[in-house]
Amino acid sequence: MSSETAQILVTGGAGYIGSHTCVALIQAGFTPVIVDNFSNSHPLAIARIEAITGIRPQLHECDIADEDAMRQVLRNHEFAAAIHFAGVKAVGRSVSEPLETYRQNVTGSLSLLQSLNEGGITRLIFSSSATVYGGAEQMPISETARVQPTNPYGHSKAMVEQILHDLAAAEPDWGIGVLRYFNPVGAHKSGEIGEDPQGIPDNLFPYVSQVAIGRREKLQVFGNDYNTPDGTGVRDYIHVMDLAEGHVAALQACLQSQGLFAVNLGTGQGSSVLEIIKAFEQTSGQSIPFEIIARRPGDVGTSFADPSKAKELLGFEAQRDLTQMCQDSWNWQQRNPTGYSNH
Ligand code: NAD
Ligand code: UDP
Repeated sequence: MSSETAQILVTGGAGYIGSHTCVALIQAGFTPVIVDNFSNSHPLAIARIEAITGIRPQLHECDIADEDAMRQVLRNHEFAAAIHFAGVKAVGRSVSEPLETYRQNVTGSLSLLQSLNEGGITRLIFSSSATVYGGAEQMPISETARVQPTNPYGHSKAMVEQILHDLAAAEPDWGIGVLRYFNPVGAHKSGEIGEDPQGIPDNLFPYVSQVAIGRREKLQVFGNDYNTPDGTGVRDYIHVMDLAEGHVAALQACLQSQGLFAVNLGTGQGSSVLEIIKAFEQTSGQSIPFEIIARRPGDVGTSFADPSKAKELLGFEAQRDLTQMCQDSWNWQQRNPTGYSNH
């Protein structure tokens, strides 16, 4: 089978990053097959992938921890690799419900690995996070920085990374790409797919765009006393389609190699909360009222990537700038004021 038509198992493929990655996979000639339990996504995302690409990915609605169901899925396809997005991502909930986070992210990943191993699938891309670096002292953050998470969510990602290291060391057949995302934002330019948080958004971009559309009154800015140019937190926002294309590049590398690589996916540029508000106001033409409140517990002042390893190893470099991120978020928000749920 040529890599052009290779089937790729995408766990969590109906979610925010997974749906964009399915689009990028299809555009690169791969055939994504989605496993999702819709615990944090909407089936409409699948139809929207089809609206963009003309191809409807095959869907298996099941839990990655259901090994019988996964065995069935693996029997029905000849997968060249898996991209593993399925898991929970709320940092706050990981602090209040650590067992659930570890069950979903660590036990879930272990079950999946067991199923893949049994099915003879030895190529994997894993969604990790810059959260594994915790409060890194040196900026930009390179992959050699110490892994020192500060919350159960970050620990769950670091634990799975460790499991994957041990697996790659024990089983030389495996080829594994660990991708540490910085802050994914934006949406596909069509406005068909985008981020659809349930309830009050935890993250800055969806919150800002819900203020812009009038769903929320004002943004609360968590602290303006950080050691940053304007005192507000600085992050490395990366367009979700760049991130998606980074997965395709990582997959291509992983299909050709063995062992494990871990790379950052970021732009290398930091932006402050106030800069994001300004950029979003300029793009949307809406004013974003805000108030400064206390720091959010557990937040770091500054976090941005050294993206050079992704460039050297994968030939990947983010292309889309902050204006594009704001434009595409706003387009998605305007076309889907209440996300997927109202359709
Ligand atoms: P998301 O919640 O939109 O997508 C996750 C998808 O997985 C959802 O469709 C959900 O229904 C599905 N899912 C969850 N548990 C499942 C299970 N047990 N079985 C089957 N399907 C299941 O999240 P996202 O933002 O697309 O994130 C994808 C991955 O990237 C996650 O692992 C997350 O931790 C990681 N990540 C996200 C960010 C971010 O800011 N969005 C940053 C770093 C890392
Ligand atoms: N932030 C904020 N108000 C919000 C949400 C986030 O001021 O309602 C700030 C947060 O303190 C951080 C930045 O925006 O400096 C990005 O936060 P987000 O939760 O999106 O990402 P993360 O903290 O995971 O990097």
